Amino acid sequence: MVVDIKKVGVIGSGQMGSGIAHVCAVAGFDVALSDISRDRIQSGLASINGNMARQVSKGQITEEERATALGRIVAADSMDELADVDLVIESAVENEQIKRKIFAQLCPLLKPEAILATNTSSISITRLAATTDRPERFIGIHFMNPVPLMELVELVRGIATEDETFEAAKKFTRTLGKTIAVAEDFPAFMVNRILLPMINEAIYTLYEGVGSVEAIDTAMKLGANHPMGPLQLADFIGLDTCLSIMQVLYEGLADTKYRPCPLLVKYVEAGWLGRKTQRGFYDYRGEVPVPTR
Ligand code: NAD
Repeated sequence: MVVDIKKVGVIGSGQMGSGIAHVCAVAGFDVALSDISRDRIQSGLASINGNMARQVSKGQITEEERATALGRIVAADSMDELADVDLVIESAVENEQIKRKIFAQLCPLLKPEAILATNTSSISITRLAATTDRPERFIGIHFMNPVPLMELVELVRGIATEDETFEAAKKFTRTLGKTIAVAEDFPAFMVNRILLPMINEAIYTLYEGVGSVEAIDTAMKLGANHPMGPLQLADFIGLDTCLSIMQVLYEGLADTKYRPCPLLVKYVEAGWLGRKTQRGFYDYRGEVPVPTR
């Protein structure tokens, strides 16, 4: 069953889901954006609007293209409104139980030929696929944050993913103007398998008092030529997402080198999740970010 992708459903309108809806709409796909409440969808749409305005001011898209792209995105208040999509990209919180529940609710509504994709950062594609009615039409399409700016997409096949699904996902991703890296389905795939242990180590470096937030970020920016320090990057990704990925690595690979730093756990328990909650390793409530340690 070859599916011609025209309409895309995006589940979760947080930082990633809204970015995915944004790039799909700019590339000419119709988009149905869903979340747990109208408020969440509206806040996703507001950030898409703001990010597209920034692209207009930088001359990357015209005002007309922005208006057309925005017009392609509809708020889907219930999952029933995803019944006619050709591809769904699930981008809700990084929690396996929640993702499973979403698929259980969604699958009976979808066309049989619709492709189901997840933007999970770390959870097994094979295991998620096995909970659905279409493991052969299930694939990982893993975008990077912020989606409109980052060129890479990791494509991850589950054990049952058919070639046709893989080819359709490749074609779709290339239409978005992204470059593909193919990863095998092992915990956290490639980018996060390498990146998150580095971030976790930066948090241990802070936890053990080797350096302050500022010193660690300056060290890695100027000493390793990283565009952003690891703690700044952790805030940007979301500390809850960072912790989930470390837990998936720790449990999935059963190796103590992936043990999440207790300080990361503490920040998440405090609800200091980084930029999205205005506080993480930095406090973003003022004019300039201020280190919280
Ligand atoms: P986020 O917290 O910004 O957004 C998650 C959204 O999911 C929220 O709007 C929430 O209301 C919604 N949600 C929760 N339960 C839901 C449900 N049952 N149905 C529909 N929506 C629901 O998180 P995010 O950073 O956008 O991450 C989303 C996914 O993208 C995760 O799987 C994450 O691992 C992955 N991801 C994140 C990054 C990153 O850098 N943050 C990068 C790549 C992939």
